[in-house]
Amino acid sequence: MLIAANWKLYKTQAETRTFCAEFQPPGGVDVVVCPPFTSLAAAVEGGLTVFAQNVHWADEGAFTGEISVPMLKELGVAGSLVGHSERRQLFGETDEGTARRAEHALAASLRVIACVGETEQEREAGETEAVLARQVAPLPRHPDLVIAYEPVWAIGTGKTATPEIAQEAHAYIKSLIDAPVLYGGSVKPDNAAELLSQPAVDGALVGGASLDPDSFGAICRAAAP
Ligand code: PEP
Repeated sequence: MLIAANWKLYKTQAETRTFCAEFQPPGGVDVVVCPPFTSLAAAVEGGLTVFAQNVHWADEGAFTGEISVPMLKELGVAGSLVGHSERRQLFGETDEGTARRAEHALAASLRVIACVGETEQEREAGETEAVLARQVAPLPRHPDLVIAYEPVWAIGTGKTATPEIAQEAHAYIKSLIDAPVLYGGSVKPDNAAELLSQPAVDGALVGGASLDPDSFGAICRAAAP
């Protein structure tokens, strides 16, 4: 099981050091944290497995605001998220751009978690499978690629997908691509075990509940063998 913490635009370096001092990952679970860029080094120094929240497809160049694979690898970062719904919805990132980011990072031996998921409107219009198929299609096929199914209507809203909805979407994604699939969307200590017990759920991507070492620890323990 892989449990990933997406800290979004939270945690300074000092706050990251405090988290690392308090958080004890359980054995038998692949635990990673995705801090903002300025806190990556502090998290690596704190002994955690660290992913970035995004990575660019060029190693260097005129790409203001981006970060490259060599920059991340120099810090000891092990992988990156790509295509988070906040990147897609708020910053205009596309399926093709997400795939290029994933491809470049994987080729350079970084692990990648590529996020996919439908909006509430798309689900209500019966378009969930079409959206997932469109988002998964351009992604590279690679042993270090993990998919995160994050229904946009469940992110940061407190509305968790039922275990049945998660299972159905994960099984569909697995019919499209041979990769582990994490569930993301309001995962909390009290719903983690049930979601993680679904056969097609291979772990979780956790936003809000990953900021506190106790609640993130409880979610990680729910994934322990
Ligand atoms: C996320 O941002 O990836 C996420 C799943 O957030 P939350 O757990 O807060 O819904």
